[in-house]
Amino acid sequence: MLEALTGVRYLLIDLDGCMYRGEQLTEGAKEAIELLKKRGINYLYLTNNSTKSPREFAEKLSRLGVLAKAEEIFTSAQATVLYMERLERKPIYVVGSSYLKQQLLERGFSLVEEDKAELAGYVVVGLDFQLTYQKLAAACLAIQRGAEFIATNPDPNLPLEDHYLPGAGSIVSAIAVATGVKPLVIGKPSKIIVNLALKKLRARKRESAIVGDRLDTDIRAGKAAGIKTILLSHGAILPSLEKTRVKPDFVVNSLLSLAERLGGGSP
Ligand SMILES: [Mg+2]
Repeated sequence: MLEALTGVRYLLIDLDGCMYRGEQLTEGAKEAIELLKKRGINYLYLTNNSTKSPREFAEKLSRLGVLAKAEEIFTSAQATVLYMERLERKPIYVVGSSYLKQQLLERGFSLVEEDKAELAGYVVVGLDFQLTYQKLAAACLAIQRGAEFIATNPDPNLPLEDHYLPGAGSIVSAIAVATGVKPLVIGKPSKIIVNLALKKLRARKRESAIVGDRLDTDIRAGKAAGIKTILLSHGAILPSLEKTRVKPDFVVNSLLSLAERLGGGSP
């Protein structure tokens, strides 16, 4: 079945849990990227994390031993800004990182502060380490006044080496529960981030695949966008796979075993 992967020329690679976990590079990740380069596979690292810049992610990868450039990273914050550019311009109330706010400002969007939130046409919510009750209240008020609710990503938690922190999804859920309004999600499992990433790579869908460690985000996003999906199991036994509604097209033990199967076939 894995022979079907030889036609893949473009690969979207999840970062957290796929390239590294915390400050630990996953086994074979470095060799896998070297092999992908050698075989001419075009790849983009795709992350739902909206709190850091592509340069910071590239620096982290490089620090861990995988040389990376900012252009090789695509985040849910970048996808959110690109998506917002397609919409009618209205003031935005942001619950999120200073990086997300700065990106929106650089693209000429006007942001409103907490005390003017009711003037917002959009409420954009991502992970915010400075979250307060007042910010939640302002977001809810704006949505009650008719602002559109947009979420950078729905991840419930932020995994660290031996525990996890509340993720963007926890904040998004608080606002969704209070208002009864569901957000438009930009990051995985939405096809929006995948389609924007493929556009950045100038990739054709039938030659594209996504690899990640989560069924509910990576694999669902790939399915939604109509590209091949590869679950990275890290050798774990996946007893629940038969019962899940979301089924990956392929399961691999490591990124290296995936890289070995790509680009080897006839053109
Ligand atoms: Mg992951």
